[in-house]
Amino acid sequence: MYHYPISYDEPLFRPPSEAYSIIIQITLGCSYNKCAFCEMYTSKQFKARKEEDVFKDIDTFIPYRDEVRKVFLADGDPLVLSTERLLRILTKLKNTFPKLQRISTYATPTNIIRKSVQELEELKNAGLDLLYVGIESGDDQVLNSLQKGETFNTIVEGLNKAKNVGINSSVMIINGAGGKLLSEQHAKNSAKVLNETQPKYASTLVLTTYKGLEHFKNRFLGEYVPMILPELFIEMQTFMQHLDLNETIFRSDHASNYLVLKGILGKDKPLFLQQIKTALNHPEIANLRSNYQRGF
Ligand code: SF4
Repeated sequence: MYHYPISYDEPLFRPPSEAYSIIIQITLGCSYNKCAFCEMYTSKQFKARKEEDVFKDIDTFIPYRDEVRKVFLADGDPLVLSTERLLRILTKLKNTFPKLQRISTYATPTNIIRKSVQELEELKNAGLDLLYVGIESGDDQVLNSLQKGETFNTIVEGLNKAKNVGINSSVMIINGAGGKLLSEQHAKNSAKVLNETQPKYASTLVLTTYKGLEHFKNRFLGEYVPMILPELFIEMQTFMQHLDLNETIFRSDHASNYLVLKGILGKDKPLFLQQIKTALNHPEIANLRSNYQRGF
């Protein structure tokens, strides 16, 4: 949609739903950078970009100012920046793009908890609408094994703190994150953490080991036993059975997913359970992606 007039510090990542957003890098890398499964920013040293450089990037989009509706702030966890600094950037964005409707960014639950309620309110009032939070699991043992640096309690506290000031969350769970040994508790506690936070958006993706299984296993604290496809579906089934959501937009359409589910939870829970059951019992007629056979 847009011609991008700025050059990014690669690699650059954004959520699939930000495909038509302007992306502004206000930090480089991830301030945490330790999650066992994540290779997104391992090639980068975390730093905050100079404000003048951020402002220059924003200004390069001035020719498109009336077209810009959404802005995504990169890289890994910009919410780690001071509130004062974030407010200056949000204000600059609002002043530059008169038709701006949404500003979003990646965040960790700990980033959120470290802000006071007043700071979060100020950020919301300045235009921060949506946080993408990779919670990965609601199970403390899985979170610890993944070296996630979060717990069930920090996730609930962080997401609800943002929600209480009107900042929405889009959360992500990793199917297969704990392997075969932790699968059931991962499924049940991931459902529980969503039930207690009722996020606006939720999605699942399937664990992908970008640098190979052995590399991941070396970073996973404990024994990781890989799961075959029917086991991943059973985990999804348990997760879905335990979900009790009022109105969460749910997607499992990331490229890593074999079974695509899209809808609203709780309304579509019976439909999703039926689709998972069909995938398990009759994969030949289920709506599976073409590479599913490798798992059966
Ligand atoms: S906090 Fe997010 S970006 Fe940082 S290492 Fe973990 S998963 Fe990757």
